[in-house]
Amino acid sequence: MTKRRERKIKRNLRKSREQSRLHRGWRQHLAGILLVAVIIFLIVLFFMIRCSRGTGKAERGSMKIESVKPDFDVQLLSINEYSRPGIEVDSIEGIVIHYTANPGASAQDNRNYFENLAKNHKTKASSNFIVGLDGEIIQCIPTWEIAYASNERNGDTVSIEVCHPDETGYFNDATYRSLVQLTAWLCNKYGLKADQVIRHYDVTGKNCPKYFVEHEDAWDNFLKDVAYAIKHKG
Ligand SMILES: [Zn+2]
Repeated sequence: MTKRRERKIKRNLRKSREQSRLHRGWRQHLAGILLVAVIIFLIVLFFMIRCSRGTGKAERGSMKIESVKPDFDVQLLSINEYSRPGIEVDSIEGIVIHYTANPGASAQDNRNYFENLAKNHKTKASSNFIVGLDGEIIQCIPTWEIAYASNERNGDTVSIEVCHPDETGYFNDATYRSLVQLTAWLCNKYGLKADQVIRHYDVTGKNCPKYFVEHEDAWDNFLKDVAYAIKHKG
């Protein structure tokens, strides 16, 4: 091999090494740009999903529900010692929130269950109101009469049983909205404040309403929504 040829080969080798280094540099550069683009895309996507969820569905605790009188279906139970004793209360000092512990059952199902206790004598149970899965409300017992729901607070509170779709006891949006509206409307009707709204748990320590006992933050948010509604009478 001539020296000239040898030099040429070395030169070509050097050149091709430089080119491949340059190539590698570009590839890394491109990968970096691509990574940043993907991250930006994901961030934008995240905020778009959040915004679309936010439309018309405010976070609980800031739902801005007003305490106008809700529509409710009055289906008073017949007077009987198992669900409607017909005893008047002296005063109304609070509202007690419950969950039905009967996943998927409607307000009507629960109302019928209370009514049937008059015949089957299975237990003593009832509630002044029931809020259903579609936000419907049934009144079973007049507010000034005792319901068998809240143990030692039966005599000075109004009880609200709330339906829930599953075992978690979480109230869906339609149910939640009606519950806030009904609770706040009752508060205004009887001169009560949000801190006079309690859970069955606060009376007896029972895990009722389940989700609000197991999630204190959800309960606090509910009370915030009730307090807002009490101030805004529509
Ligand atoms: Zn209860």
